[in-house]
Amino acid sequence: MRVTSVLVCVWIGLAATAQAAPDTSLRPVARNSATLESPQAALGETRPTARPAVFEAALTDQLTRQFEGEADPGFQRALTDQIGQATRAFATFSPQATGLSIRPNLRPDSMVQKAMAQQRARARGAVCGDPDIQGETVGFVPGRLSACGIQDAVKVRSVAGITLSQSAIIDCRTAKALKTWVTKGMKPAIGNRGGGVSQIRVAAHYACRTRNSQPGAKVSEHGKGRAIDISGFRLRDGSEITLIQGWDRRDTGSILRKMHKRACGIFGTVLGPDSDRFHKDHFHFDTARYRSGSFCR
Ligand SMILES: [Zn+2]
Repeated sequence: MRVTSVLVCVWIGLAATAQAAPDTSLRPVARNSATLESPQAALGETRPTARPAVFEAALTDQLTRQFEGEADPGFQRALTDQIGQATRAFATFSPQATGLSIRPNLRPDSMVQKAMAQQRARARGAVCGDPDIQGETVGFVPGRLSACGIQDAVKVRSVAGITLSQSAIIDCRTAKALKTWVTKGMKPAIGNRGGGVSQIRVAAHYACRTRNSQPGAKVSEHGKGRAIDISGFRLRDGSEITLIQGWDRRDTGSILRKMHKRACGIFGTVLGPDSDRFHKDHFHFDTARYRSGSFCR
């Protein structure tokens, strides 16, 4: 409680200063750069343009000195939490305050503004609590068959900065697995080839159907929002690597096999062109979990 109230006071103080600080300096530009560089300056005469990292460093510094000798780890944790919260609030507040500023030369340069705008846009489009997963929240998706449907679905547009050729309706567990694979499997496997991947070709995502669409088979993981099929990759230079053509080519075959191998463990089931006749042209990844571990073929 004590931490909270101290921080509320500090925070209100900072916010008020930022809103109403009279400009007494004759060299506003010089002061601004000092603010950006010096944590003390950021706290002492907080400018709305101070960067969140500077703000955080200054706040941490001040409170650490203020509460020196507090040995209780719970208190220290609470303090750290509160500093984090205040910094996030500051980051949100700061660009708005800047817009109201009557001191145009104290505004952050366009690069900083652009970065802040991007950050805000990313925060708005984030799903599953992860700015690296962009899309929309869908919620409950009812299924035509009783075993189909998704409790908490999201419609994912991009993961880790890579767009999907069509937005994928999946659950958050699957979206997070996809992000992990894109980051740790797909990107390293492609490396710099063609400038890297610009788009992932999604062949299928949510669909209420049986496994491999075979009559009488069990409902596919696609019918539960736990699966995604990927048929290829568009690279930044405009070229494409597809599963149907690339799997058996010497140069792209090794890239695709690396991606396949790395997916194993991140996903519960990983199927590729070598698994069966239904997967000649795509990877099937799903997050169904088996007692015996991942199933990869
Ligand atoms: Zn599939």
